[in-house]
Amino acid sequence: MDGAPQRLTDRVAIVTGGATGIGGAIAERLAGEGARVVIADRAVDRGAATVRRIEAAGGRAHAVSCDVADGGQVRAMVEETLATFGRLDALVSNAGIPGVAAPADACTEEDFDRVIAVNLRGVFLSAKYALPHLEASGRGVIVNIASTFGMVGTHDAPAYCAAKGGVIGLTKQLAVDYGPRGIRVNAVSPGYIDNDMDQRRARMTSDAAAANLASRESAAALQPLGRQGTTAEIAAAVAYLVSDDASFVTGVVLPVDGGCTSHFNRGRR
Ligand code: NDP
Repeated sequence: MDGAPQRLTDRVAIVTGGATGIGGAIAERLAGEGARVVIADRAVDRGAATVRRIEAAGGRAHAVSCDVADGGQVRAMVEETLATFGRLDALVSNAGIPGVAAPADACTEEDFDRVIAVNLRGVFLSAKYALPHLEASGRGVIVNIASTFGMVGTHDAPAYCAAKGGVIGLTKQLAVDYGPRGIRVNAVSPGYIDNDMDQRRARMTSDAAAANLASRESAAALQPLGRQGTTAEIAAAVAYLVSDDASFVTGVVLPVDGGCTSHFNRGRR
């Protein structure tokens, strides 16, 4: 990444869900700042494509197939990181799914459990298996990707809101236990982000894609900054928290949301 600061030279970072979207941008940003990056994602073909982009830009990366809801796979992924790059300095827990849109009485137990398993249990498992190596690094960092909808409620997302609220609580709890052991733990809370939407929209019908784009853009237009954020804006916040520029920052939840969680919206910007 031309012109990027080089704050992460000699560090090794894992980015879960790093094949695409926000995670892909985080992986590229950390690699652009000098880190060697492991992309841990179910989408291993797209993970390999992100590795190729990082390598073409002069960086180093490695893709591992991993479902973060599965403890055995997470442990194996961390071991593969150590075997590939020899150390671990940063974990970015980004993998997440929205779940089926429905209010609680229509949300199936299976849908609820899967969202919690990926979005909350996955963050716990990734931390659990990374922490001993982060402690050994002497400058270990965890950044969890939360959401506006872990801070305020939204319609038809009981599991997502519960999981992201849980991620915020877990972030603070881990900061308390592991600060004394030299590990900083923070979260970034994205607002409306236009993440690979062209790619996602390509997988939708054209009507669904147009409706999806219009709905996100009209909601974002009501926020103080009046637009969707970019994946690069989330990645920049994550890179700051991973770097020594944030050396006295732990236990915080950093909203990168165009001001939406600061605004009691009464129908106008
Ligand atoms: P994307 O769906 O674009 O990317 C998520 C990536 O994570 C995909 O590659 C996905 O693979 C992967 N993934 C999903 N489940 C698992 C799993 N069990 N194990 C490993 N990898 C998995 O999502 P976004 O980039 O939009 O979101 C990234 C994070 O940011 C999520 O935690 C999300 O909740 C959060 N967020 C996003 C916002 C937004 O506006 N986009 C706003 C606020 C928060 P696959 O495609 O195979 O499912």
